[in-house]
Amino acid sequence: FPDTRERYEQDNTSPAIFRDPNKCILCGDCVRVCEELQGQGILNYAHRGSELQVMPAFDKKLDQTKCVGCGQCAAVCTTGAITVKNQIGQAWQALHDPKNRVVVQIAPAVRVALGEEFGLPAGANVMDKLVKALKLMGVEEVYDTNFAADMTTISEAQEFLARLKNGGPFPMFTSCCPAWVKYLELNDPKYLHNISSCKSPMEMFAAVLRDKYREKDAADGRRTYHMAIMPCTAKKMEAARPEFTQEGRPDVDLVITTRELVDMIREAGIQLTELEPEAPDLPFGLGSGAAVIYGVTGGVAEAVVRYCLPDKSNNALQAIRVTDLRGDGAIREVNLTVEGQELHLAIVNGLSHAKELIADVEAGKRFYHLVEVMTCQGGCVGGAGQPYGLTAAKK
Ligand code: SF4
Repeated sequence: FPDTRERYEQDNTSPAIFRDPNKCILCGDCVRVCEELQGQGILNYAHRGSELQVMPAFDKKLDQTKCVGCGQCAAVCTTGAITVKNQIGQAWQALHDPKNRVVVQIAPAVRVALGEEFGLPAGANVMDKLVKALKLMGVEEVYDTNFAADMTTISEAQEFLARLKNGGPFPMFTSCCPAWVKYLELNDPKYLHNISSCKSPMEMFAAVLRDKYREKDAADGRRTYHMAIMPCTAKKMEAARPEFTQEGRPDVDLVITTRELVDMIREAGIQLTELEPEAPDLPFGLGSGAAVIYGVTGGVAEAVVRYCLPDKSNNALQAIRVTDLRGDGAIREVNLTVEGQELHLAIVNGLSHAKELIADVEAGKRFYHLVEVMTCQGGCVGGAGQPYGLTAAKK
């Protein structure tokens, strides 16, 4: 029989998400997850003739909607109608190009999510095995994004202290989550001056690497190709932002998610569990404990507060750890006294709750000095680029 079904155009306009409406079975899970987690419901139901189908609002492509690229819709789509953009082919091409020197950074949430896919206990830290696997795949240098997370903490804390001295603007919003930044740009641009001016750790690292390798590239005629392994699909979108390019080239050439890396390790036939551990390369292979907690909601705020505390003894840091800074609550409020000044902090899980918090701030019901917003439930460990069992949408 001839296939008489109408074919719908695929949508490749987002740097993070790929849509094939032909595979959609109208279950509506993507709409619900977008509404519940992000308060948006971008992938609305829409009518075409007599048919009901899930599609971007008003027949628009994703780049014409308010999609923030968090990818949680892809995490719940069981038919492949919405998928995270697969860039494994580009990664292999870059690795096999002799003109490239491939340099990689690995985000904190990746190392504790990947091991389970290879039969290791949940949460096992496989950073050292990942370094070895990437080297076997042809990567020349492997660095730790934790190094840049520490740089972000220092810059963000200094900015926060300067705002406390100058009286604002408050709340200062954290800037690490690109989906959150995109959300404010699209929905509430008047708050853009409240966002910290610091780049995310990925982009901070990328700028440093671009600079570090400039001379080396000129000397040996090769091109340093910078790949970032992230738990996050919105990072693909962040890497494509024009302000993160120099001389027409993005600072991060390619973002690969944890799941894409799992597939690459399998394609290469590498037995991850059998590998001898190898430490990340220096000088960017080191990071503090405060950098590690960037992977969970509340981690960024905790790292900034730790930096601001004059007393950095174990007892003082332990006291912060037991406050509500970490946890799963939708909006967690924490009051702390730093150098005699009472600080009001909030940690927000999900954009729908950020929307709620902004409404209360505008109505004068709440006041905060610092607000951390993470789009994915639980923070980046629940990013849509993580193995499916961990994604926020599946929780
Ligand atoms: Fe990406 Fe983390 Fe933001 Fe989720 S919470 S969109 S994983 S940066």
